[in-house]
Amino acid sequence: MLKLFKFLKPYSAMIAGALVLIFLQTLGDLYLPTLMSDIINDGVMQGDTSKILNIGGFMLLVAGGGALCSILASYLSSRSAVGLGTILRSKVFRIVESYSLHEFDKLGTSTLITRTTNDINQVQMVAVMILRMMVSAPMMAIGGIVMALQEDKELTWVLAVAIPILAAVIALIASRMIPLFRLVQVKIDKMNLVLREKLTGIRVIRAFNTVELEMKRFNEANVDLTDNYIKVNKIMAFMMPSIMLVMNFTSLAVLWFGGIRISDGNMDLGALAAFTQYAMQIMFSMLMLSLMFIMVPRAQAAAVRINEVLDTVPEITDPFETKDVFTEKGNLEFKDVTFSYHGAEEPALRNISFSAQPGKVTAIIGSTGSGKSTLINLIPRFYDVDSGSILIDGVDVREMSQETLRSKIGFVPQKAQLFSGTISENIRFGNDQVTDEEIKHAAETAQASEFIANFEGGFEHQITQGGTNVSGGQKQRLSIARALARKPEVYIFDDSFSALDFKTDARLRVALKKEIAVATVIIVAQRVGTVMDADNIIVLDKGQISGMGTHKELLVTSEVYREIVASQLSEEEIA
Ligand code: ADP
Ligand code: MG
Repeated sequence: MLKLFKFLKPYSAMIAGALVLIFLQTLGDLYLPTLMSDIINDGVMQGDTSKILNIGGFMLLVAGGGALCSILASYLSSRSAVGLGTILRSKVFRIVESYSLHEFDKLGTSTLITRTTNDINQVQMVAVMILRMMVSAPMMAIGGIVMALQEDKELTWVLAVAIPILAAVIALIASRMIPLFRLVQVKIDKMNLVLREKLTGIRVIRAFNTVELEMKRFNEANVDLTDNYIKVNKIMAFMMPSIMLVMNFTSLAVLWFGGIRISDGNMDLGALAAFTQYAMQIMFSMLMLSLMFIMVPRAQAAAVRINEVLDTVPEITDPFETKDVFTEKGNLEFKDVTFSYHGAEEPALRNISFSAQPGKVTAIIGSTGSGKSTLINLIPRFYDVDSGSILIDGVDVREMSQETLRSKIGFVPQKAQLFSGTISENIRFGNDQVTDEEIKHAAETAQASEFIANFEGGFEHQITQGGTNVSGGQKQRLSIARALARKPEVYIFDDSFSALDFKTDARLRVALKKEIAVATVIIVAQRVGTVMDADNIIVLDKGQISGMGTHKELLVTSEVYREIVASQLSEEEIA
């Protein structure tokens, strides 16, 4: 957790201010019982009203000053802790942004969200507490003991008995509470995961009539968490009365033995009143310290999880010196590329070599799981190759900056992804240079203008989060329009035509051909009809190239291609 606290640096002035204020307030608190003892001894006992008013007024002043300090300190320490939270969240967000897909595969989206929200909140909460108590609790404990000793040395033996008893009670409770708190954290995590999965999968759950079953599974997680909270609360409920019991017995003992000392003439009434107050202050500060011991481990667990995110070094980074100058336009070349996913036994791609030129369409076909998506994910560096290289215009993609590289590519992923916002915002997607005209044109080419026109508001129609209010085919066409609007040098379509009916598919390809005549086009497809008229077709089989050439050539040379064709086309279409 200390590692995270270094991010408090911008707030060091505020924190210093808060600590000084808390110091002053604690001094005041420690001084008040002494003043009270003076009032009793010099004022009340002597019947001296002016002294009562004088000292009383001074006490009010000290108390008022203390309150003011306390309020200000509260403000400053809360501001700093919330600032820490803000800094941590943006740090975590930034580093997660730079993760390659490998890191996402490893950590998982769900826990990244919990770490950015819940865990950082925990650390933030405990930071406020530490700032507030770091100075006041030890100072109050030690100062209280010193002051109590000054009031009456003999009576301190009562404290010497009471404090260890209180410490033992607190230790017993804390030792039971801490593991439970840790468990609660884990169980909250689990419930978030279950809930998230259920909500995103709600359509499937409904369709398969498993609502009841899922309800039961959710209830299990929920009840589990509840049971844990109840256990924690039972201990908490036990904590307050037992601590109060020790405290009250201590007051009783102080009064009892103090009374004896007073009747023996060894102590005055003022000293006894002050002593009682100091005893309470000491015990109260111990209570505060113990609360801290309970809260800190919980936040520590959160801090470890945050650090895990911050310490993960993104696998894919920009080179120190980037080569971003180009002479040609969009020449793509794979040279003997081999790639495997982390933890996989077999490489997902092996010895892939081919080239794709501007103005030509290169198609990739193969059965599901043959590595088509993997292959094209390597081009924008979502993953890095294990061996071999991928060149664009003769420059290795690892030698360019990721920004330049990705600005050259129009990527249409297999699973079309839209974001909340209007249709035109989704097509423009952060690129301010795209004009309204170009957006319309891109939509036209992507065969999307017809259904857009039917929406209320047309291009200003709101897309819901994740694009759930448009159909799969509409989503695909919008995501194609988004790629077209960028006017990139290399187009990559990952199975982007599969959700379209044959007619739209054909019309779209004709429109595309005109539009992207000068660009390099890579089309991944399952349908032979989609790839048939490509300039070059690559047949992928189990991560390897098993054939390459035009439709006509492949019919002769590739057994795998013939099988695919035979399974899809009727005799006359083949010829
Ligand atoms: P295709 O797009 O041709 O259907 P993919 O390229 O998606 O096939 O997958 C190729 C192989 O790589 C599959 O065997 C799949 O299980 C594996 N694979 C895909 N993505 C991952 C991943 N993120 N982590 C591990 N293995 C993966
Ligand atoms: Mg795929």
